[in-house]
Amino acid sequence: LSEQEAFDIEYWLLEEAKLQRMPKPKALAGRIAFITGGAGGIGSAIATRYLTEGAVVVLADIDQASLDEAVAGFGKRFGKDNVRGVLANVTDEGAVEKAFHDSLVEYGGLDILVSNAGISSASPFEDTTLAVWDRNISILATGYFLVSREAYRIMKKQKLGGSMVFIASKNGLAASAGASAYCAAKAAEIHLARCLALEGAPFGIRVNTINPDAVLRGSKIWQGEWRQQRAESNKITEDDLEEFYRNRSLLKRSVFPEDIAEAAFFLAADLSAKSTGNIINVDAGNAISFTR
Ligand code: NAD
Repeated sequence: LSEQEAFDIEYWLLEEAKLQRMPKPKALAGRIAFITGGAGGIGSAIATRYLTEGAVVVLADIDQASLDEAVAGFGKRFGKDNVRGVLANVTDEGAVEKAFHDSLVEYGGLDILVSNAGISSASPFEDTTLAVWDRNISILATGYFLVSREAYRIMKKQKLGGSMVFIASKNGLAASAGASAYCAAKAAEIHLARCLALEGAPFGIRVNTINPDAVLRGSKIWQGEWRQQRAESNKITEDDLEEFYRNRSLLKRSVFPEDIAEAAFFLAADLSAKSTGNIINVDAGNAISFTR
């Protein structure tokens, strides 16, 4: 090596080292995210991931007490200007429109929607009342429709594209005995996302779905009747449920809210700029065989 070449290499290595030490820009800096069911287990984990990556976040939920608690917690951790809470029932058309308008007017736009507000319910098919059927269809299928339609209108008008993430379920593809209304509603969410991906593509609006398998920790769904029903139908105790789902999975791993949040981060960020109309199964490998 000539003296000049050695100098050039050393100079280049020093510049590289400086670059490595520079703080990296956060992946969601300047982005505005709206998360329904944001006071729940999966919604809160997604909010945490987005706030950590520099986004500002609106949490929409029907449960005022949980919403207040979540907003106060996030405000303390990430700064109160970076998080807002808005009380809204996703089945109420007027309330959904108002929730978007009120919360986003202040932030000035919308880049990311996470449609996540939901419930679980089980009943043998012949005992499924119209009320149970309607509740599932209205909160899950209709709720996801109303929320994504409003987000779509805003994103299209902004002309800046956007990313929508639907939290559906493994049960939207796999049949589950005794939960036909829930499964049918989750299937509707998945197909709605794919249709919306088609219509949104010319405007840079991407729409993808995450299908979680059972996420017990942190989820309010798993604290009540659902937990008891699942334990009974699998002939195990409620305490053994987590182990049951872990053992049932291909990878023998439990799925946590943070695992869903990681996929939701990928789908919201430019990392997934070339993905739309897709489904990510976060299920420790369960979807590979629906007979398991
Ligand atoms: P969670 O109960 O902890 O959170 C759901 C949140 O949605 C709650 O805060 C609840 O108040 C809110 N919500 C319910 N109905 C609403 C309505 N009409 N309007 C506005 N908000 C409403 O449950 P989670 O486990 O975090 O579930 C989030 C999503 O993930 C749901 O769509 C659920 O179906 C789906 N999912 C969950 C699991 C799981 O095992 N936990 C598995 C697959 C799919």
